[in-house]
Amino acid sequence: MNITFYDFKQLHPAPFLQEIEARFKEILHESSFIEGKYNLQLEKRLCEYLKSKHCRLLANCTDALEIALVAYDVKPGDYVGVTGISFHASAEAIVNVSAIPVLIDVDPITGLMDPQSLSRMIEKFPLKAIIPVHIYGMPAPMAEIEKICRPKNIKIVEDAAQAIGAYFPDGRPVGSGSNLVTFSFYPTKNLGAFGDAGAILSDDEEMIQKVSYIRNHGRSAQGLLHFGRNSRCDHLQAAVLDLKLGDLEHQNDQRKVVAAKYMEKLQNLAVEFPAKNFVRTSSWHLFPMLVPSKEHKIKLRDFLKERGIQSQLFYERALGDEIPMQQYQGEKEQARKFAERVICLPIHPFINEDQINYVVQSIVEFFDHH
Ligand SMILES: *Cc1c(COP(=O)(O)O)cnc(C)c1O
Repeated sequence: MNITFYDFKQLHPAPFLQEIEARFKEILHESSFIEGKYNLQLEKRLCEYLKSKHCRLLANCTDALEIALVAYDVKPGDYVGVTGISFHASAEAIVNVSAIPVLIDVDPITGLMDPQSLSRMIEKFPLKAIIPVHIYGMPAPMAEIEKICRPKNIKIVEDAAQAIGAYFPDGRPVGSGSNLVTFSFYPTKNLGAFGDAGAILSDDEEMIQKVSYIRNHGRSAQGLLHFGRNSRCDHLQAAVLDLKLGDLEHQNDQRKVVAAKYMEKLQNLAVEFPAKNFVRTSSWHLFPMLVPSKEHKIKLRDFLKERGIQSQLFYERALGDEIPMQQYQGEKEQARKFAERVICLPIHPFINEDQINYVVQSIVEFFDHH
């Protein structure tokens, strides 16, 4: 049996592609390539869905992170905290604005930012901003993080690239609130374009105004007061995302069902589930599992591959151990241990019962011998 990590064939069935073609034809006919009506419609719908006052579509999430830092007035040489388990773009954005990343350690089980490590790093470094990441789709502990940062006026950029459709424990959607929250619509994300796209959401009108002018070469209602850059979202991508948004909640629910089954069926093995307390609140972009050692991780990956099951080592190394990050300071210990043990199982919305059972049986068999 072959189980792929993503399944674009089922994600894009023929009736969906017909609707997309109709939209593309309409856009070509109107020659409305940039900032078209689907951009505005999608921004409005994302605000409603994520209970946020403002949304601006952008070219991708890495740009969104950089633009958020610039909007918060992060300057070259400023210190910006970032959590140790993430895709490396979270740190790349800091370096790209010539600021200095500081590694904040993670909770050993969830891989989310550890507020105690954050407090220690605030004592050591004059952090101007931090980037907590809702990694794998789990909400980071924002209530605790905000309690620490607000009195010191440390700005917060939430990296929600993997967390569209996730919720905080109080039921508030990730994407709501007054921080700048960044999303990615890279094709493999829960809401994916036919290329690159991203967004920033926030209730903070002043910051969103800044985001607006930065994304469009600095143009503002008062004319050109500052340079910006180009990070606009193509109309074609907005049309795709707007059409796909209607299916997102249902697809996230299907991911949840898969996750719950994996956890139930694998519970007696020597493994731990970072998102076990987030069944209802995660967007389940990924299904991370902690195995006893690095050796188990590599052997399990290869064993599954032989059986036709794709898994992913997200993330093979902690952010602080990636070559371009090794020069930067902070706390890296828990993230390192987490990265050594984590492997992600396939969890796209179209995995069926037989496939789940096949993955489970294969893992059980692996642990019979290891
Ligand atoms: C995908 C991802 C990004 C980068 O998004 P792009 O749209 O590819 O720039 C940033 N952070 C995290 C956590 C991601 O998963």
